[in-house]
Amino acid sequence: MELEDINTVAVLGAGNMGHGIAEVAAMAGYDVHMRDIKEEFVQNGYESIEWSLGKLAENDQLTDEEADAALERVTPLVDMEEAVADADFVIEAVPEQMEIKKDVYTDLEEHAPDRAIFATNTSSLSITELAGFTERPERFCGMHFFNPPVRMQLVEVISGAESAEETLEVTEAFAEDLGKTPVRVHKDSPGFIVNRILVPLMNEAAWLVSNDKATIAEVDSTTKYDMGLPMGSFELGDQVGNDVSYHVLEYMNEVLGEAYEPAPLLEEKVANEELGKKTGKGFYDYEDGEGVQIPTDQQSEFVKERLLATMANEAAKLIGGDVAPPESIDEAVQLGAGFPDGPVKLVDDYGLAALHETLEEAYEATGHERYAPDEFLAERADAGGFYESADDADGVDFETIRLEYPGDYVGHIVLDRPHRMNTISDELLEELSAAIEQLEEDDEVRALLITGEGEKAFSAGADVQSMAGSGADPIEGQELSRLGQQTFGDLEACDMPVVAGIDGFCLGGGMELSTCADMRVASERSQFGQPELDLGLIPGWGGTQRLKHIVGEGRAKEIILTAERYDAETMADYGFVNEVVANDDLTERALELATDLAGGPPIAQTFTKRAMLAGRDDTEAGLEYEASAFGHLMATDDLMEGITAFMEDEEPEFEGQ
Ligand code: NAD
Repeated sequence: MELEDINTVAVLGAGNMGHGIAEVAAMAGYDVHMRDIKEEFVQNGYESIEWSLGKLAENDQLTDEEADAALERVTPLVDMEEAVADADFVIEAVPEQMEIKKDVYTDLEEHAPDRAIFATNTSSLSITELAGFTERPERFCGMHFFNPPVRMQLVEVISGAESAEETLEVTEAFAEDLGKTPVRVHKDSPGFIVNRILVPLMNEAAWLVSNDKATIAEVDSTTKYDMGLPMGSFELGDQVGNDVSYHVLEYMNEVLGEAYEPAPLLEEKVANEELGKKTGKGFYDYEDGEGVQIPTDQQSEFVKERLLATMANEAAKLIGGDVAPPESIDEAVQLGAGFPDGPVKLVDDYGLAALHETLEEAYEATGHERYAPDEFLAERADAGGFYESADDADGVDFETIRLEYPGDYVGHIVLDRPHRMNTISDELLEELSAAIEQLEEDDEVRALLITGEGEKAFSAGADVQSMAGSGADPIEGQELSRLGQQTFGDLEACDMPVVAGIDGFCLGGGMELSTCADMRVASERSQFGQPELDLGLIPGWGGTQRLKHIVGEGRAKEIILTAERYDAETMADYGFVNEVVANDDLTERALELATDLAGGPPIAQTFTKRAMLAGRDDTEAGLEYEASAFGHLMATDDLMEGITAFMEDEEPEFEGQ
């Protein structure tokens, strides 16, 4: 089966998740049969979809016509046979109980066509065991959406013991077609990725409080304002529901062992039916109390170490057990739980050796299995981290770019192909990507400067010759476009301020590269343009999307559709160039600006960039990020430094702490 073969999608269960999944599939153009056991339940689900589509239309995320058309594609049904008889893909989202699911699969197998793929949205049950209730374990896998499916980007695609590669590939392609980002979970392991990281983290938080090692305020203050996670551990627990975390832990405890014993505090909350937000009370009191209250100033290094050590140990088990590689874990937890940095990067940055030691000491002191360090953790602690370390990358010799360190915390990337007007080849894209990563990991670098070698060009565009290898193959063309989009995207998402110093031609791909800098300084003689349409192409490295955020859609269309050349002054009028300087002053002035920015408060700069990027397509998400970052900054040393220097009228010296 291929993606093109999927036309009709059946969703079983019209509850919280089922109706959301049905809505997403209908929005993507599929015919959706949504089935529940009573007319009343499917109707409720249908009305929820109608309401949600209406909201999306109200916020201009859909037109009224699109919303109506999506709703029309959803057929609410109670009869199983009618629901699945011509389904190509079935997603099951019925209650999380093995017995119920078993009955549903038996019934489903009887009526569904042989070709159909079955996917379960289970959060915690074994994919392999569920597949065993059907006669098609090779055409069965996990497809774990997050709540609410309409907003959450992540879909974990989980392989059961017998899932065929083709099934997983089609499911991933289907998830992408729904506008989601699939992350592969290679083994059917409890909690998959996101819950496997989050649930033990929340449990460890509860153990620390149960054992009087910390207070709820200290744990949440640390999680939110020191570790920088979007919510305190207990705040998250209340959101998820203490019964849900408890059941996932019980299951992990059964399958994976004693390390996942639920903490007494969690057990007590479940016994008292204090399940979190949904019951009005959990760790915080939402009805009679003031809800979540997290002090910004009760952070504890001890709590941070224990929580990070717990995450490091879970990451080791996932990576060492071939469930998922570091990149997938980070992507999944960033998308599924809103972590600004992925957990693997977080623990690597803190230092795996220190966290390994924390676990050994805690294991010796308490004898509790949750602290038993995983063997793979010991191995990677010796190697310096889960990711290949930046030291390894230091050895890289670049051919097409140069890295310079002019001092004052500036990292300078020079595009170094003057004989070819610094045009961008495949190799340059790859080296640029490695250089950005290397500079981001370097504690001595707090701002980036990018310039082109020589006086002719910043960069005259893509090196068409070096890319001739891509020939007329549309697939290779797409890949090339994605590679450039991604590399430039890394620069745009870089946590440090980035300045482009432009002297000479800044055309095509070169202009798209400079678009990803935060500020642009240009010499008087510089010339700009997106000439792609003159060649019968379109800007393929982000130009159709990113330019409009700087100059507005009207000017962006003008620049791209006319394919004209523009001088520096005009581009300054359009808002693209921040400053035009005399030709001879360019290098000095660009470095001066980068140095200025490198002296700014690193954490506040990072948060500003992230909040602005997060809010680009979703103002709510951006505002939420801004508020949480603002709270975090209240507790930094840099704030004190900034205020003191301001009062005394001196230059602040920010430490990034
Ligand atoms: P829910 O209780 O809101 O919805 C389940 C629906 O299934 C109900 O409407 C129920 O009437 C219906 N149902 C019961 N038996 C059925 C049957 N035989 N055929 C068809 N429908 C039937 O539950 P939910 O939160 O939507 O969870 C559904 C699944 O998704 C569970 O496996 C859960 O673990 C998983 N999940 C939940 C979340 C979440 O945050 N709620 C997130 C990811 C995954």
